[in-house]
Amino acid sequence: MFVNIHTHQPSKPEFITILNLNFSEAEKVFSSNEEGFYSVGFHPWFADEFSNELFHKLTNWAKDKRLTVIGECGLDKNSKVPINQQLFVLEKQILLSEKVEKPLVIHCVGFFNELLEIKKQFNPQQLWIIHGFRGKPELAKQVLKAGCALSFGEHFNIESVSVTPIDKLYVETDESSINIEEMYKQLSSIKLCNAEALNAGNRLLHI
Ligand SMILES: [Zn+2]
Repeated sequence: MFVNIHTHQPSKPEFITILNLNFSEAEKVFSSNEEGFYSVGFHPWFADEFSNELFHKLTNWAKDKRLTVIGECGLDKNSKVPINQQLFVLEKQILLSEKVEKPLVIHCVGFFNELLEIKKQFNPQQLWIIHGFRGKPELAKQVLKAGCALSFGEHFNIESVSVTPIDKLYVETDESSINIEEMYKQLSSIKLCNAEALNAGNRLLHI
């Protein structure tokens, strides 16, 4: 079974997907009995929408076993939200991830030094997965060395995939309409292994 650890689109039932929900979608899902794996969080583009009320909701959903990963959250140089607010909202979600013992899926654009600095400060026990990683191998090595995992989608740097150990390598489609099976095929051919060997996502979900 190919696990898609980050997408915004519901997928065919034959694939296992962590579906990223916005707050109104999450409201519906967590008040229903709908099965599935989900992620919810404050994206850095919308970090100005943070409120205690919404954070309280997120905290309650985070206790639900269907909420598998907190996020996507992070830092983005292109976000209109001031960096201090982005940092505040990220730190709230780091603490939540530690409290409920669930990993974070992280969106980071242009702020890797800051992100790794925060990682050092917080010394989290939970896994941080940098999603949609497109950086060069030097950056990949730096992020991996800091203990993060990397998730690759449609656009990636081949050498960065090469330097990522299989147990730290996750696969996603994000906003793209590319097939998750195709992503596993491409990445496993770079790793010179079977697609089934790329099973970090399966281990994350204990399946
Ligand atoms: Zn996304």
